[in-house]
Parts: sequence; structure tokens; C-alpha cells
Amino acid sequence: MAFVSLTDYEPIVGKQCIEELYLLAEGLKGKRIKMVNSTAVGGGVAEILNRIIPLLNDLGITTLWTVIKGGEDFFEVTKKIHNALHGEGLSFPPRMKEIFLEVSRENLRYIDLEQDVIVIHDPQPIVCIESKDRTHAKWVWRCHIDISNPNEEVWDFLKGYVEHYDVALFSSPRFSKQLSIPQFLFFPSIDPLSDKNRDLEPEFINQVLDRFHIPQDKPIVTQISRFDRLKDPLGVIQAYRLAKRYTDCRLILAGGGASDDPEGELVLDEVRAEAKGDPDIHILSLLPTSSLEINALQRASTLILQKSIREGFGLTVTEALWKKKPTIGSAVGGIPAQIIPNFTGALVHSIEGTAYQIRYLLSNPEIARKLGECGHEYVKEEFLITQALRRYLLLFHVLSHPGERIIFL
Ligand code: UDP
Repeated sequence: MAFVSLTDYEPIVGKQCIEELYLLAEGLKGKRIKMVNSTAVGGGVAEILNRIIPLLNDLGITTLWTVIKGGEDFFEVTKKIHNALHGEGLSFPPRMKEIFLEVSRENLRYIDLEQDVIVIHDPQPIVCIESKDRTHAKWVWRCHIDISNPNEEVWDFLKGYVEHYDVALFSSPRFSKQLSIPQFLFFPSIDPLSDKNRDLEPEFINQVLDRFHIPQDKPIVTQISRFDRLKDPLGVIQAYRLAKRYTDCRLILAGGGASDDPEGELVLDEVRAEAKGDPDIHILSLLPTSSLEINALQRASTLILQKSIREGFGLTVTEALWKKKPTIGSAVGGIPAQIIPNFTGALVHSIEGTAYQIRYLLSNPEIARKLGECGHEYVKEEFLITQALRRYLLLFHVLSHPGERIIFL
């Protein structure tokens, strides 16, 4: 996607919002910010950094990005740490800690720490904080993952590092922890100008539906997700079947990642077996480059589901709400931060509850339309990239005025 400037967002969020960003940036001109994470492409963190860093620079705040390096053994360890923070059982033997620390310290030799603020994303580069005394920078730990129920041994190990930071940022109130440092709520965000979210011509949407052989003769209920048991695709099919007894509709289950993930392939097979014989269920295996197709499928849908059993923030929900779609989501992870029941969508706790909401919203299109409208406004208020920028700018001001209770801009 071509570089866009901040003013390109003005028609979406309004002149006042953009002017506020320029005003907030005024007092930060000349500051040097460094973002550090572990991958330049793939995954939500890289996606947001790719968008937000040019915009910070556009505002006159020099923002650099360093991606830490590591071999297979390092990333195997960090993946285990990641899963353990999601609650998976893990023994954390000394050798794993050694690999983690050795590679982190090796990286520290190359990272230019002459900055005003250093933002470390997620656990992979967390050990960089060991260099705190070598810089005058303020240090921020930005946690993108749900650590509400972590493996305690792994969390205790990481907490020893986290508490040396100046502040920690979490994606949802549910994800925060008891810490000795200040914490801020930083919602994830979507970019309304990206291929995943920008407006599409109806002709293009129709073409995509034709390409996937999906007739638009009845309401379409859709869940976009990796084929993963935690996204409960079989539960989605059961809910659709219960609802369909009363209200005719089609179901789309679309997602990628199946070909390079053995478990994904397995789940996809299970889903296909479950759906067999029903011509109104459309199972689509998408390529990683399918942003425009996902956008089109979401826009063609009457209702969007996210019936996860566990969830991080649930960006598919944000994307659906942005497209004014009535959205039904499980009350897990970051979904309740986005779906306010009977206002921006429907929150559910079971297959039966999901079926009930499908039936209810398909039978009450005016209520469904209002939920979609409110969902869109709520995303505009809280979850767009311009809000993420605003939060970063405010944070940089707070860090530049330590101990001050009121900051005059
Ligand atoms: N997504 C995608 N291709 C797929 C399935 C999902 O690009 O086949 C996108 C989806 O549109 C969303 C993100 O991947 O932007 C998924 O984020 P979410 O927080 O919903 O779930 P996760 O996959 O991170 O658990």
C-alpha cells in the first residue's frame, strides 16, 4: 500500500481530530523515538508499526524501528514464552533462559539507544531494558498479548524485567497485571485506509463473491478466522444450523494459514467434514495476501460472527464493526471491550446463544442496522490508527514531564 499522509485521514475522522494530532506533536518535534520488536512483516504488531511509524515521522517526530535478530532456537524459546503467557503449561529450564538472555544481549550490542523514548513490543526484546542505565531514554513496554492468565513461572521471570520499565501498555483492561510501574490502556487499532478496511466498489464485492461461487440470494452470516479450534468453527456451524431452522441463511467460514500449519489443515478437514452436504455452507481457504477478499466478504455479509473460545483482542471484530456490520462475538479476550451488548453488537456465551442472536438479528434488520451504525462510531472513537497515534503522542508528553500532574501544551 502506498504511503498515506495524516491529512488523508481527515475525511474519515474529521479536521478537528487531525488538527489535534498536529497540536499534540508540536511540543514533541525533534524528539527521537525507537520502536523495537521481533519481526518486520507478518502479524498484527508489524502491521501496525508499518503504518504508525511513517505517520509519526510525518508529524515531525523522528521514529526509528529496530527488529531484533535471532536464530531458530531463540524464536522457538520466544514462541514457547508467548504460548506460556497465554496460559499453556511449560517448564522453563535454565537452557531456555540462557538462549533467551544470550541472544537478547547480543542484540543490545547493535541497538542505538540514543533516544528519548524506547518502546519495546512484546516479550521477545524485553531484556533490552538491561541497558537502561546506559541511556537517558524513557522505556516503555508495549504488551500486545493477553497475559491475564499466564504460566506463573514464565510471568515471574518476565516481570523481573517489566518492572524496570518506566511504563507498561496493555491492549485491554482484562490483560493488565499487578505491577509496581504505571500502566496505560492502549487499544489495538485498524487502519481505515488499508486494503482490509477501505471502502470498496459494489462491483468488486460482487466479483469476489462470484469468484468464490457464493450466491447473494439470502442473508450471509460470516466468520473470518484462522482455522483454529480456539475460534470454534464447528460451534459456528452448529449455531448456524440451529438458527437456520427458523431463518434461512448462508454461512461463510473463511480463513487462511491452513497449508503451512499442520493443525490448521486438520481443523480445516474437520470443518469440511462437518459442513459436507450443505450447499449453503461455504468454506474458503484464503491466501495470506487476501486482504481485499476479506474486506469484500465482510462487506457482503449480513451478520459477522466471532465465536472464539479464547481470543486476543479480536481484530476481526473491529474490522466488522468498522464496516457497520451487526456483529455477534463471544465474551472472551478483547471482544467485550469492543462489543457493548445491545449497543455496538451482541455478546454471547454459548452455541445456543449464538444461534438465538443470529435468528434475532436476521429477523430484526432495523435493530441490526442500528447496532452496525453504533459499532462503526465506536471504532471511530476508540480503535482507529489515528486514536493509536493520539495515545502515543499523549504518552510521549507524559514521559517528557515526569512527576507533573498537569501538562500545558
Ligand atoms: N486474517 C487474515 N486472513 C485470514 C484470517 C484472518 O488476514 O485468513 C486477518 C483478520 O482480518 C484480522 C487478523 O488476521 O485482521 C486476525 O486478527 P485477530 O485479532 O482477529 O485474531 P488472531 O488471528 O490474531 O488470533
